[in-house]
Amino acid sequence: MIRDEFEFINKIKSKETQQPSLIKGIGDDAAVFKSSHMFDELICMDTMVEGVHFTKQTMTPFMLGFKALAVNISDIAAMGGIPTYYLVSIAVPKGWTEEELLEIYAGMSKLGKQYSMDLIGGDTVSSPGGLIITVTVCGKIEKGTSLYRHQASSGDIIFVVGQLGASAAGLELLLKHGLTHNYSSTEKLLLEAHQLPMPQVAAGRLFATSGEKISLNDISDGLASEANEIAEASNVDLLIEFEKIPRSDYIKDFPLDEQRRWCLFGGEDYLLVGTMSQAAFQKISETFREKAIMLTIIGEVTIGSGDVYITENNKKKKLLKQGFNHFNKGEDNGKI
Ligand code: ADP
Ligand code: MG
Repeated sequence: MIRDEFEFINKIKSKETQQPSLIKGIGDDAAVFKSSHMFDELICMDTMVEGVHFTKQTMTPFMLGFKALAVNISDIAAMGGIPTYYLVSIAVPKGWTEEELLEIYAGMSKLGKQYSMDLIGGDTVSSPGGLIITVTVCGKIEKGTSLYRHQASSGDIIFVVGQLGASAAGLELLLKHGLTHNYSSTEKLLLEAHQLPMPQVAAGRLFATSGEKISLNDISDGLASEANEIAEASNVDLLIEFEKIPRSDYIKDFPLDEQRRWCLFGGEDYLLVGTMSQAAFQKISETFREKAIMLTIIGEVTIGSGDVYITENNKKKKLLKQGFNHFNKGEDNGKI
């Protein structure tokens, strides 16, 4: 438990700030920062609930903090933006020590520093049940250049940034063996994909600054779900070829049906899926190669009414918007 709220807030408050636009961070009724006429402002929020999105069996407090911030930065990346600030609300049940709570903040700070982000506020309350952490992230993007889901057009190619499936594979290992099992080095990389996902800010920035018409979504709920969101928002059909989906090098020894499930429905990879014209891809893929960021074509966009299809072994099937269920397979995945 937190002995003194104000003492606790003092401990998580950073001595130096990074963003030049910050006027007042933690310590008053609200944070104040300057906005610029060159940029649009971005803001998003995500919540992680103990027992739904994580347990002490799958994540250390440090990892929880890192991931709670990472999933929000990923949303900024999926708009093409630059993350700037974050705010954190924690509802703390009995049984969590102040040391553990400070570890959560250490995890956030580790990732936040990589992007020169400042923690500028939050709220601290008690919870009768599990720990709940809600993170809000602010970001910015050059005016009028946000990469929306509704920007897919028929004739576009569909692309994925990175390789899919590692996070879901890592979670299955954690649920089976727990945090402290003697994992192989490959297994450790799978665990890390689940526990410490890296948001794709650099890729998002390359897309946003390319000047091309690009639709973009981050892969939080699985490729099937995210592709359906693009198809619906753009009112087109997406046709994905299963064999073209880049699968994580570290899951290739697992049975194919598991690899398939993790890649399509696994989620939590926090990579990016999107669409752009063939000509744009020719131009952009060169830059991605130079920066060693993997960019792969997995299908094409056609005229349609918001559906996603997948071809596998020369058979075409509808790919439904179903996500993988982490802690209660087939029941509650924390969304309502
Ligand atoms: P108020 O009563 O005005 O809401 P609080 O006492 O809740 O202020 O918080 C004091 C300051 O500490 C505020 O700037 C608030 O944003 C910040 N703060 C409170 N809890 C947290 C937290 N868990 N993480 C980060 N900042 C926090
Ligand atoms: Mg308050």
